Parts: sequence; structure tokens; C-alpha cells
Amino acid sequence: MTLDGAKWVEAFQTMSLSATIAVALAINIAMFVVSLAGGHFLIHRYGNRRCADPPPPLTGAEIVMSIICVALNSAVLVAGVALLQHGWLRVIVEFPWWRPVVDVVVLTAAMDLAMYVLHRLAHWRRIYYWLHGPHHAHRHPRPLTLFVLHPAEVVGFGSLWLIVICVYPASWLGMTLYLALNLAFGTIGHLGVEPYPEGWTRNRWTKWISTSSFHAGHHLTPEHNFGFYTTVWDAIFGTMAPIDTTDSTDGHHV
Ligand SMILES: [Zn+2]
Ligand SMILES: [Zn+2]
Repeated sequence: MTLDGAKWVEAFQTMSLSATIAVALAINIAMFVVSLAGGHFLIHRYGNRRCADPPPPLTGAEIVMSIICVALNSAVLVAGVALLQHGWLRVIVEFPWWRPVVDVVVLTAAMDLAMYVLHRLAHWRRIYYWLHGPHHAHRHPRPLTLFVLHPAEVVGFGSLWLIVICVYPASWLGMTLYLALNLAFGTIGHLGVEPYPEGWTRNRWTKWISTSSFHAGHHLTPEHNFGFYTTVWDAIFGTMAPIDTTDSTDGHHV
């Protein structure tokens, strides 16, 4: 066991399918646990700064859907390893110090735009109810809500990620940092409390980075705040919630 990503990339290149499945499950279960533990720590820490009402009691359906989500995310990693083994995916193992920084910026920008577009499409009436509706059934999110997604949605986002890294060969460190950032943003978006400092959304620089309230606002008024990492595309396409959405503002319940 090593934390050196270059050695992991080398190991993945010759790993058997069964070993890859075991490693992919271990990584995704670890990410799931880190997200839930980190999320509940932040809820405890910032419990006095709620940006959504507390969620109703947990249901069995949420648990089943999140387990399916973790299994499918593992399958996406297995597919990524298959692409690596067949030469479709290239992961850079030797790089200068600045390369991971550039990778994180490129990957985050590309995924932010693509996910904004796909998220808008997922709200298209004809597919919304069966595809994206299950996520929006949770008007008041909890950390687990991040994983309560329709299986097709999980595969869709996973496929998008695989396409992006096949098109743009990134360093293993850049990819790892992006995935950590993705998990952090996803977790923060479903806390129901706001860990970012007061004034974050008014500052001319930080207002472009999405907050917990921003995604809580999307769960409350699903026609607003489609962005994931930034608020840039909502600002450009005019889908930003006009005010800080809180539970005192009653939005459309979907
Ligand atoms: Zn959400
Ligand atoms: Zn949505």
C-alpha cells in the first residue's frame, strides 16, 4: 500500500479485473464514509447557521439509492482502469510542480461547464421526473442526499468524467485533487448549514465559488442555481436565484 499515485497508475495497468473491482469498491466506500463523516462534523460545527430546514427522517429508499450510487461509482472507476489498460486513457506520472495546479483548473472548468449544461438538460420536463426527480425529492438535503441519485445520472456523470480525462490527459495528482474537490463541493452543497464565512457571497472574488446555501437554494427552487463548483454559468445564463434562498422564502415544491 502506498500513497504514491505513480505506483498506483503502474499497478492499475496490469491489475486483474477482480482486484480492480475490489480496489474500486474500497476507494468509493472510503470516499462515501469521508463525505458522510465530514458532512455530519460540519453540520455539528455550524448547526447555528442553517440554510435549509432540517431534513425529515431518513428513509430506506435513500439508503438503497446511495448504496447503488457507490456501487456504480466503483464501476466507473473500473471502466477508467479498462480504458487505461487499453490505451484510451493516459495518466501523466512524471510532471513539474505546476502541472497538477493547471490540471485542477482545467478539469474543474471543463466539468463545471459540462455539468451545468447536463444539469439544465436533466431539468427538462420530459426526463426530469424519472431521471433527476429522485434527487429533488429531498427538498431539505442531508449529506447522504449527494449520493441519492438515479443510477442513469450516476453513470452519466461518470461517463462525462471519463470522456474529459480521455480528451485531456492529466497528472495523477491533478486528477486526485480534482476528485477530492468534487467530493468536498458535493458534500458542502448538501449540508443544510453554511460553513462559509459571512460575506462570502458579497465579496467580489469569492461570490463566484458556490456555497452550501447556493445548492440548498437549488433544492428549494429547482429553476435556479444549477452550478456545481462556481456560480459563473448561472450568472451568465440568468439562472441565479435573485436573493439568498432560505426556507423562509417558499419556492416551488417539486
Ligand atoms: Zn443536490
Ligand atoms: Zn437539479
